[in-house]
Amino acid sequence: MTVPILDLARSFNEIKPEVFNSLERIFTAQSFILGSEVKNFETHCEKYLEIPENSAVSCASGTDALLLALMAIDIKPGDEVITTPFTFFATSGTIARLGATPVFVDVEPDTYNINLEQAINKITSKTRAFLPVHLFGQLCPLENVINLFHDKGVKVIEDSAQAFGACRFVNDDNGNKKILRAGTIGDIGCYSFFPTKNLGGCGDGGMNVTRDSKIAERLKKLRVHGSGKTYFHDEVGINSRLDAIQAAILDIKLKYLDKWNEERRKLANYYKLLFKANNLNEFISTPVELENNYHIYHQYVIRVKSKRDELINYLDNNGFSVRVYYPLSLHLQPCFKYLGYKEGDFPVSETLSREVLALPIFPGLKSDEQELLVQEIAKFFRNN
Ligand SMILES: *Cc1c(COP(=O)(O)O)cnc(C)c1O
Repeated sequence: MTVPILDLARSFNEIKPEVFNSLERIFTAQSFILGSEVKNFETHCEKYLEIPENSAVSCASGTDALLLALMAIDIKPGDEVITTPFTFFATSGTIARLGATPVFVDVEPDTYNINLEQAINKITSKTRAFLPVHLFGQLCPLENVINLFHDKGVKVIEDSAQAFGACRFVNDDNGNKKILRAGTIGDIGCYSFFPTKNLGGCGDGGMNVTRDSKIAERLKKLRVHGSGKTYFHDEVGINSRLDAIQAAILDIKLKYLDKWNEERRKLANYYKLLFKANNLNEFISTPVELENNYHIYHQYVIRVKSKRDELINYLDNNGFSVRVYYPLSLHLQPCFKYLGYKEGDFPVSETLSREVLALPIFPGLKSDEQELLVQEIAKFFRNN
């Protein structure tokens, strides 16, 4: 028996007839870029996220969503953007791509998310934006710090590529319960619809959301080469649109998202029970969910205190596929040498890159597959 890190076919089977129907509709219409399919999906995202009409602006990828968001607030060479070194490359790659300077801050050892207190301390006169990541599907508690950034003129852009559907439950000023959804808390939220994400298409796709209608209008221009009226260019933008096929499939998947995220949470809970039942907590630690968080487990990432790489080899040889997100902290990447960081600058992030291990978690993963995997991990630690 083998257990894959991800098997998209299992959830796709549930929606196959609906998807094939929509493909017929799209190929009959022969309208492929933006258009009504895309508008429809954007509208449904606005409803799902409980944000105003016309506040969702889709684009061609999560990376482009980050790039467009930074462009929409005029990030330019010399500007500083505070961000995390423990994330997918695009988070800081897009900052550097605009000639701005990524300013890294270490992460929390339990949630792997950026340390908010340290981020605030990094604000300088050059800081223009704060770009936290809701890593692996868990929100940073941004509501506690957002005003501190805004007071200093710093915009907050949320990399929610891994967190569409994640939220936090908080009390508003009047003590009423309120839901804060990933991507809708800061000035601009950025999502990715890469096929492996919790809401994933059948190709690349992305989206920005913002409550600022001026920024939304700007984003809509920037994604079509900066043109308001076709062939008349107010500024230089990029070419980054969502296509009808992605939009139609994402629109179908959006209806299933809450159910699938709930399933991921059940799977995560079962892993936790299994690790405990197998007395593995002296060798590994399971992910920590902050109080009032609705973690959607884009990834289920444990920490392996020692012999992680031997464990990976062992599992690989026995048919269990696991992954390391992320093996090299971004401040140590060769392309960022010019920023002048060195080993030891962000000890938590560096330790995590040596200890983290992502286990299979996806809708359709079976409990006996989880049991076998955890038993195999237990066997490894008994014999090593
Ligand atoms: C996936 C991802 C991105 C980039 O999204 P793409 O659609 O692959 O371009 C950015 N940031 C994070 C944290 C991601 O996981």
